[in-house]
Parts: sequence; structure tokens; C-alpha cells
Amino acid sequence: MRKKIVAGNWKMNKTYEEALSLVSEIDNMVKDEVNGDVSVIVAPPFPFLQSVGKLTQGNEKMHLAAQNVSEHESGAFTGEVSASMLKSVGVEYVIIGHSERRMYHHEDAEMLYKKMKTTIAHGMKPIFCCGEPLEERDADRHFEYVGKQLHDSLSYLSNEEFDQIVIAYEPIWAIGTGRTASSEQAQEMHEYIREQLAKMFDAEAAYKAVILYGGSCNPANAKELFSQADVDGGLIGGASLKSRDFTDVIKSF
Ligand code: PEP
Repeated sequence: MRKKIVAGNWKMNKTYEEALSLVSEIDNMVKDEVNGDVSVIVAPPFPFLQSVGKLTQGNEKMHLAAQNVSEHESGAFTGEVSASMLKSVGVEYVIIGHSERRMYHHEDAEMLYKKMKTTIAHGMKPIFCCGEPLEERDADRHFEYVGKQLHDSLSYLSNEEFDQIVIAYEPIWAIGTGRTASSEQAQEMHEYIREQLAKMFDAEAAYKAVILYGGSCNPANAKELFSQADVDGGLIGGASLKSRDFTDVIKSF
């Protein structure tokens, strides 16, 4: 049985007060309503990490993620946040390679590889995002595109490093658009990703790897997506900003 994970990426949303209210509501709902074995991850903006983490400390289902990390260890990198800083405030997971960071901040495969290395070296787990733009899907090149993303950033990791990684498949055409991949489209890509991982690492590690789906996942479609054999949970954007919706997604296994 693979681990189940639902992670909420809050992106650049919420003020401090709003962030604390949101996480308190989620924490209470998870305590009251979620019985199964599922890890819930919240990824608030950097300034709120420590306070959000403190509020969830007593709840063993809840975990803290950062939305990004510097590939550098320390020094003259104005505006950047290092892995050791994140670790020191209780961060357990780091989202790496989100399509918005690849697109707006020009993060390339090598940079993402370095970010994963430093994240793992500091005892945290990367949530590595991959996914194709609409043109690639329409041209029927989505498997090659995602395969290359995986190969270019992951293949240089050791087996031990790979064991720390969570994968998130997020087709770009489904992010924030209200257009979800069908459960068949999600399943066939997740299965393909697992096959590629088995080629790069070993079959057992690939079998155990948690692969999340992301892209307009919400309480109405999560059950069907999460019921697919190779879909182990979700990376949720919009629906993670409302405690009721996010909890309902968590309850969709
Ligand atoms: C995301 O950006 O990680 C995401 C999945 O967003 P949304 O759920 O809003 O499509």
C-alpha cells in the first residue's frame, strides 16, 4: 500500500490573519473528520511558515511545505530562502519545479536538480512537479515531454535520494483553468511516470513512489481521480484556499 498525500499549494494568497484562520480550520476539520491514513500537507507563503507550522504541530496528519527553495546554501543571494532556513522553522516538504516557477522564474532542469539535492541534504522531501503545456498534449507529445522533464532533473539522483521524492503530475492546461484531466488521462500518465521511474531507479522504488495529480482538482472530481491505480493523492491549488473544499478533497480516497 502506497502512502496517500493531499497537499495544498496556497501560492501567493492570504494575509497573516487569513493564513492562521485557514490552517486552524483545516486542522480542526482534519481532526474531526479524517480517519484514514492520509498525510495532509499545507504550503503557505514563506512569511507564514513558522506560525502555520506551530498551529499544526499537535496533529500528526498535518505537515508543512514550502513553495520554493534556493539552490544555494547561503550567502549573497538577496531575496532567496535556503534549505537550512526552511528546515530550521519546521518545514518537511518543498514544492520544486511548479510550472509557474518554471515559466515566470525561468527555472530549468539543472536548477531544479540542485534544489532537490539541497532539500534532501537538509532532511526534507521534494515534491517534484512535472506536466505538459496544451500544445504538447494537442500534438500528442505529452509522454515524451514529461519523460524528458523527469529524466533531466531526476536521473542524476541516487536511489537513496530518490526515495525521498514525491512526484506531482500537473498538466499545465489544467492548472487554475477549471479544466481537469480525465481520470483516464491522469491514470495513463501516472502509469507512464512510474514506468520511467522504474527505468531510472529500481522497480520497487518506483512502485513505492507517491505520484500526486494536480490541476483543478476539487471535491467534485477528487474521488474519481484518487480511485485510479497510480494516483496517490493530489496537489491542490484553488480548492486548498477553502477549508471545507480542501477537507472534502482529503476525504475523497
Ligand atoms: C497548482 O497550481 O498546483 C494547482 C494544482 O492549482 P489548481 O488546483 O488551482 O489548478
